[in-house]
Amino acid sequence: MSMPLVDRLAAIVGAAHVLTEAADLAPYLAEERGLYHGSALAVARPGSTAEVAAVVAACAEAGAAVVPQGGNTGLCGGGVPEAGAVVVSTERLNRIRAIDPVDFTITVEAGCVLAAIQDAAEAAGCLFPLSLGAEGSCRIGGNLSTNAGGVAVLRYGNARELVLGLEVVLPDGRVWNGLKALRKNNTGYDLKHLFVGAEGTLGIITAAVLKLFPRPCEVETALVALPDPASALGLLAAARRASGDAVTACELVPRIGLDLGLAHVAGLRDPFERPHPWYLLLELSSSRPGGLRTALESVLAEALESGAASDAVLAESGEQRKALWKIRESVPEAQKREGGSIKHDVSVATSRVPEFIARATAAVEAALPGVRVVAFGHLGDGNVHFNLTQPAGADKAGFLAEWERMNRIVHDIVAAMDGSVSAEHGIGRLKVAEMARYKQDVELDLMRRIKAALDPDGRMNPGKVLPP
Ligand SMILES: Cc1cc2nc3c(=O)[nH]c(=O)nc-3n(C[C@H](O)[C@H](O)[C@H](O)COP(=O)(O)OP(=O)(O)OC[C@H]3O[C@@H](n4cnc5c(N)ncnc54)[C@H](O)[C@@H]3O)c2cc1C
Repeated sequence: MSMPLVDRLAAIVGAAHVLTEAADLAPYLAEERGLYHGSALAVARPGSTAEVAAVVAACAEAGAAVVPQGGNTGLCGGGVPEAGAVVVSTERLNRIRAIDPVDFTITVEAGCVLAAIQDAAEAAGCLFPLSLGAEGSCRIGGNLSTNAGGVAVLRYGNARELVLGLEVVLPDGRVWNGLKALRKNNTGYDLKHLFVGAEGTLGIITAAVLKLFPRPCEVETALVALPDPASALGLLAAARRASGDAVTACELVPRIGLDLGLAHVAGLRDPFERPHPWYLLLELSSSRPGGLRTALESVLAEALESGAASDAVLAESGEQRKALWKIRESVPEAQKREGGSIKHDVSVATSRVPEFIARATAAVEAALPGVRVVAFGHLGDGNVHFNLTQPAGADKAGFLAEWERMNRIVHDIVAAMDGSVSAEHGIGRLKVAEMARYKQDVELDLMRRIKAALDPDGRMNPGKVLPP
């Protein structure tokens, strides 16, 4: 008689690192937005790549599904397991294997928390620029698997653009060691890009070589009051030109986002004397001291004179910078406290963001009178979080029942504008039907062939990303 799977897992990773009790499993079965609740045979917490490989091989032999999990901060239900699955948590794969400030690279295990990688880079006089609201708990394997974006994509690119090499455990338990720190490597298909953004459907990322950058020593941050989103585009282009392309963040906040923050988030302050329809958080940074402040001031002076900006404040200290960022970072939390919200993480060409916001706002307001549009986010890379807050005083459940109808209206406009219905959060379980609807048949066919080639039994994170 062969050993039961749970016993085999315990023999591989140690009994203390195989969880089966309901209370121990609970945090791995719930997800950030509370949309899904999972079920699993066990959670395994391997401590090395060899242990991940042995766990995956044991699951393959037993025919069990494998669901990789990092920090479980994903927003699309991609890490939620179904009954009988084994969750493979990367939390014990948390070593920084090497850091090279001459090559500007860092080699990390998949379970390193993003903030820990940022800290290690800083200690070596470098910058790891990936930065997002969940950075204190998300893990780099999850960041790569969702191709995370965040606030510095405009300057440094998304997770995909920050990776040089990967180590991956394949669905049959083999290990692919692609941990090269090369900037140039033209030897056929670039396999690492298959696993970036695959959301755990093709294998488990166990380690990565990441790009570092010189650490900025000058950072200038401004909050600019604007009449409309279109004004932001001219301001962004002018700031890029005047600063030698030093704009690192360009985040849009509507007045309603600030109003909700003032109502629900302690310590938030409106830095302006009167309300304005829109705000733009602009941040410039450079590893060469001097010059940014003057460049930013002259761009803002011109914008104020031409009417493209109505007012502006510049941070004079680290504290003031934090206070300006808090206005932007409070928007999701404030929306949550206000009641139900229907979310859209979409992108269009940056130049078309104002048109998208106008079209989508008009369409949802016509379809659901009283709905409050909170369109905010990463304007600089064309990514809008087009979120809808329930009408004041409305029934939350009744509003959330409109989720699919609102998705259809917004996503049809995105598709008509040649945009993407998932800019940075991925597909997971939440957007599988949207994949079926908006991807071309030829794209889905190619994706299914890749999946079948790497995971013929369909055991890696089943039910995610690809429509059946
Ligand atoms: C407050 C908040 C703010 C956020 N802001 C942003 C933002 O600005 N930009 C953005 O892009 N996202 C954002 N997110 C979403 C989320 O943080 C990211 O998707 C993050 O990259 C997920 O990392 P994780 O470790 O939590 O992954 P998990 O949630 O654990 O997993 C996500 C997916 O990746 C798979 N996976 C995890 N680890 C591995 C691995 N080692 N190998 C293979 N597959 C794996 C899982 O199976 C799942 O499908 C935010 C989330 C929160 C809660």
